[in-house]
Amino acid sequence: ADRRLRDVEFTETTCGFCAVGCRFEVASKDDEVLGAVPTEDPAAAPANDFSTCVKGKFGYEFTNSDDRLTTPLVRDADGDLREASWDEALDRVVEGLTDIRESAGPDALAAFASSKCTNEENFLMQKFARAVLGTKNVDNCARLCHSSTVAALKQTVGYGAMTNRINEDVGEADAYLISGSNTTESHPVLATRIKRNVDAGADLVVFDPRKVEIAEHADQYVRTKPGYDIAWLNGLIRYIIEHDLHDEAFVEERTRNFEDLREKVEPFTPAEVKRLAGVPPVELARAAETIAAADSVVFGWAMGLTQHSHGTGNVLAMANLALVTGNLGKPGAGLSPFRGHNNVQGGGGDMGTLPNVLPGYRDLGDDDVLDEFEDAWGVRPPDEVGLKVPEVFDEALAGNVRGLYVMGENPALSEPDLSHADEALEALEFLVVQDIFRTETAEYADVVLPAASFAEKDGTFTNTERRVQLVNAATSPPGDARQDWRILQAVARQMGHGWEYDDPEEVMDEIASLAPIYGGISHERLREENGLQWPCEDADDPGTAFLYEARFNFPDGKARFVPADMGRPGELPDEEFPLTLTTGRVLYHWHTGTLTRRVEGLRHHVGESFVEINPETAESLGIADADRVRVSSARGSIEVRAELSERPGPGVVFIPMHFAGGAANELTGEHVDPTSGIPEYKVSSVRVERVGDL
Ligand code: SF4
Repeated sequence: ADRRLRDVEFTETTCGFCAVGCRFEVASKDDEVLGAVPTEDPAAAPANDFSTCVKGKFGYEFTNSDDRLTTPLVRDADGDLREASWDEALDRVVEGLTDIRESAGPDALAAFASSKCTNEENFLMQKFARAVLGTKNVDNCARLCHSSTVAALKQTVGYGAMTNRINEDVGEADAYLISGSNTTESHPVLATRIKRNVDAGADLVVFDPRKVEIAEHADQYVRTKPGYDIAWLNGLIRYIIEHDLHDEAFVEERTRNFEDLREKVEPFTPAEVKRLAGVPPVELARAAETIAAADSVVFGWAMGLTQHSHGTGNVLAMANLALVTGNLGKPGAGLSPFRGHNNVQGGGGDMGTLPNVLPGYRDLGDDDVLDEFEDAWGVRPPDEVGLKVPEVFDEALAGNVRGLYVMGENPALSEPDLSHADEALEALEFLVVQDIFRTETAEYADVVLPAASFAEKDGTFTNTERRVQLVNAATSPPGDARQDWRILQAVARQMGHGWEYDDPEEVMDEIASLAPIYGGISHERLREENGLQWPCEDADDPGTAFLYEARFNFPDGKARFVPADMGRPGELPDEEFPLTLTTGRVLYHWHTGTLTRRVEGLRHHVGESFVEINPETAESLGIADADRVRVSSARGSIEVRAELSERPGPGVVFIPMHFAGGAANELTGEHVDPTSGIPEYKVSSVRVERVGDL
């Protein structure tokens, strides 16, 4: 949109797609979004200056879609969803939830928060679950992406978050080790920073089973066997220690448990790493030498490391490697889990939308902490750990969870083994879905509540570098749709709780009063200071650019080495299912595609599901490019187009996660990481057969 156009308004806000947290201005006219333009002041866009990716630039179209929900829907006696007034829909919600709570107790209810929604909305969702419903069961989709990261980083360095900044650290590192991150397609603007720095001389090492685009820029790309990452990570640590390449002073002064680590990595000899992970000894040595020689290294990863039945172990090993080489607490270095959703760091973690912590990661087993929340809310939050997302589905099938409230998530497509999710959703007695579209999950709902998109919201998102940034409404929600915080407040009030928030700014004040890492954050400061990185504990605290400069987040200030035991995939190829399936993203789409499949320009680039097959594997199966193929696992089968590509290695196939027709999750399995509960989306055994021409 041109700034000279008449009657066009420009509203500075934060991108609603990924967690890079690009800021730009939304152009709107007559309550319709026209486009996105760079901010006039680059200081207002600390993560991206003037850049945005194709989704930020063109992906806004879904906000104007005719498919938007504009009125509540309730299921009628014939089993159909029909339009209803807010009064009728809210009555049904309150009645449905209250009946179950009274007959089966509050823990027969569960609530899913949303990493798409603002911090303020997510804070209210966990408050609604804990203080209004009285249930311990609140979780969100971060369970499915980086819960293993959070579990591992809490144990080793203290905070379950990226330690550094996008521009000043990731953009300025001397070297990178990236694994399990298709950075170019998943975090495009951040990938551009890395590639620019690599062009200027930084070393890039990529370990990945699939030769993703960022690997094309690498000094060293190593193809690994899916599911065996602990082997090569421990092997790197072993090599570095054996050759005295570790940072002895850092290890001595700033860490504990080094001897245990040294002992536990001992079996990971180069020969053993080759046997387990397929990494040649010469490649292992080269990567270890590069990492050890660099003054500052950024360790970047995403779901390729986390979504395994030993995802926590993978991240522990990565954290151990960063610690042993002294790459924390200094500029240009650090641990960089690239978070997915726009607000997964804040809404999916910091706000306490998790079954084991309260906002600010506060301990729900601590009586003093519970007293504080009780004083503020007038209700004591449950002190027991609740159910994780996959457990909610298992318990629904067992009849123990009977009611579910889903805000802005689409588990009918995002859960692994969709037939299991389908049965669990069917088994629920009462389901509320609050969303902007009639999603696949909404089809199971008793009540659907129409919500607002990011362009129609006020509040804050926290990006992957812990930066809390303002979100400002450019347009109004369509029809009778409402911002999520307003809907939650209406339900809470009708259930007898006198919530009286005038705006999200007031909610942030409550967050600051209860979550010390947000203690100094207010909307007023965010307006003046272009975002703040937590921890930001009081009004004079400028926030924390990178973590652990002086101390780690433990009482003694020292990091812990927590050795990672070898983990293997839960499912291995066999005669019936001889290939390994891995899933992931493409540049033009987002998660379950609810938003991007509705944008013509993005659909034009990639309009349907496909399976990438290595040409060698394809030839052995008699499959040519663009053939129609059936991909089957022990769970189900789908038919998609074959795309021959050298990206996956022989024996490995890749399917994107974004499509409802040919959904990758029809095939993925039930194995989960026991520590974090993250499902193993990245390794499933499948068979591929040609079914015909397209
Ligand atoms: Fe939005 Fe991420 Fe693209 Fe930036 S890189 S414009 S935050 S999707």
